[in-house]
Parts: sequence; structure tokens; C-alpha cells
Amino acid sequence: MTILWLVIPCYNEEEVIPETAKRASRVFRELSAKGKISPDSKIAFVNDGSRDKTLEIILDLCRQDDIFACINLSRNRGHQNALLAGLMTAKKYADAVISMDADLQDDVTAIERFVDEYLNGSDVVYGVRSDRKSDTFFKKTTAELFYKFMRFMGVDLVYNHADYRLMSRRAVEGLEEFDEVNTFLRGLVPQVGYPSATVEYSRDKRYAGKSKYPLKKMLSFAFEGITSFSVRPIKMAFALGIFSFLVSICMLCYCIAERLAGNAVSGWASLGVSIWAIGGLQMLLLGVVGEYVGKIYLETKHRPKYIIESVVVNGKKTTD
Ligand code: UDP
Ligand code: MG
Repeated sequence: MTILWLVIPCYNEEEVIPETAKRASRVFRELSAKGKISPDSKIAFVNDGSRDKTLEIILDLCRQDDIFACINLSRNRGHQNALLAGLMTAKKYADAVISMDADLQDDVTAIERFVDEYLNGSDVVYGVRSDRKSDTFFKKTTAELFYKFMRFMGVDLVYNHADYRLMSRRAVEGLEEFDEVNTFLRGLVPQVGYPSATVEYSRDKRYAGKSKYPLKKMLSFAFEGITSFSVRPIKMAFALGIFSFLVSICMLCYCIAERLAGNAVSGWASLGVSIWAIGGLQMLLLGVVGEYVGKIYLETKHRPKYIIESVVVNGKKTTD
């Protein structure tokens, strides 16, 4: 029977974990009573270096009930890396893994439909939100812009899909082969391939606590997504460079013609403007190139994406 792991990255989520644990374990018990998942299935919380009582609460849950497991990272490495740590640990035990946020924005009752799709032969099941009623106007518009912009930049994303998804073990193994430091899972998972399906669910408000994605982090996340997956900015920079070069040749011809016609050079204004224009353009292009060089720099270091301090499964600490 299918062993299912639910992986939940948590960063300072003490207010929501007890409720998340309650709702998720209820779903798990129902599914196992129906015979859809094995009773050995686990709900694993990944503690991403939280500064509040998150870890204690998780360990407490593990002590109370073997359905819970804990993956404790050595420090805060961010949502994507925490998720990856969870997936890679889960794949050692599970046939299928579902990743979900801790804040109960993702509807736990969709888990059953995820499993149904998996049992029907899908290796990846994407949770897609059916509406954005619960989001603020700001979040809604920025998120929509994000998807449109990513599409325009040539990044293959599943529309309105966050990180609520099921992956079979072989899909996670496929993901593991993508040996890159700049992790943007939403862009990577579609690259893994295998049969996939989508399941719609309605997304709720955050149950408690604050969003860990303020605007600044959201922008850097989007930027990360683009530069990790698309070389279009470099191509655009190249096209812009050619264009400005052509313009400058035209300018040159114009100047020579004016000179030959005996017209006085009409002053420094146009000169000043073009110096600024070209200078600015060069700076911009350098910035774009620099961004990619920076990425290469990070990739060549082969730094670990995360370090797991300890794993608790079936109430026992394991080291592997
Ligand atoms: N998270 C994490 N590490 C971080 C930031 C966030 O593990 O450094 C987790 C967080 O606990 C939550 C999930 O990532 O389970 C998504 O974060 P959040 O709900 O704050 O993002 P939003 O839904 O506002 O985009
Ligand atoms: Mg959230």
C-alpha cells in the first residue's frame, strides 16, 4: 500500500502547527481507514531554523503520535531549501510525497484527490487554486503579474500553482538530479516530466501568524525564478546593445553631414544626453551580465543547499 509523506516547511509557525497537525492527521486517518494509504504514512514537519517554539511543538507531537516526524535543519535556509530537505528525506521512506505550507492556506481535504490522481497513475499532481478570493488585492495583482511576467520571460510554470503538490518517489528522484543551488521548485518540477495532473482547491487565508514573504522577499523570489530559468534577459540586453549601436551610427552620419553642410555644431545638450544614454545602457547591460556571472559563481561553489541536524521518525532520532 502507498506510503504517503506530507512535508511541511515551518519557520516561526508556533501559532499554526497544532491546528495543522490536527487537521492533517484527521485526513491521514480517514485515508488509511479507506485503505488508500498505508498506516505507516507520516506527516513530517521541517523546522527551518525557527526562533520561536516551533521545534519544541513538533518534537512534542512526535512524542505523542508516531504519525508525526520531524526534520530539523541546522539553520534557516528559506522555504524552498526547507522543502527540498523534506522531499529528499521523505523519499527514503515514502512512495509519494505531498508538500504543503504550514499556515493552512492549502486545503487539506484536497489530499484525498491528490492521492486518487496518484493511484490513477500520475507522478506529479499540481494543486491549483480555483480562486483568489481570500487574498488581498495587492497579493492577487502581484501574483498574477508574476505568472504573466514569468511566462513572458519563457519560464514554464503551472498557472496559479504554488508549492502544494504531490510527487511520486521517482519524480523526487528526478528532481534530485537537478544539481543546482538556485532552487526555484515551481520551475524545476515541470522540467522533471512524467505524467502529471492538476487538482483544484480553494485557498484560504493564513490561519494565524504573519506571512513570511514580505514584498522584498517576493521580488527576490521572482527575480531568482527568472534568472535561474531564462536567458531571455541576456538576449534582450544583446538586442538593446545592437539597437543603441545602430542609433549611434545614425548619429555619427548625421553629425558628419551637418559638419559638411557647414552648420555649426548646435551645442552640448545632445552630446550630454547621448553620453548619459549610452552610459546608462552600458551600466544596465553590465548589471544583467553580472547577475548571470553571479549565478555561475554560486553554482561553481557547490555549496550544500541545506544541512539536516536531526531527523525523528517513529519517535526515534535517526542520523541518516
Ligand atoms: N517558510 C520556511 N522558511 C522561511 C520562510 C517561510 O520554511 O524562511 C515556510 C513557512 O513556514 C510556510 C511556508 O514556508 O509554511 C510559506 O510561507 P508563508 O505562508 O509565510 O508565505 P505566503 O503564503 O505568504 O506566500
Ligand atoms: Mg502562506
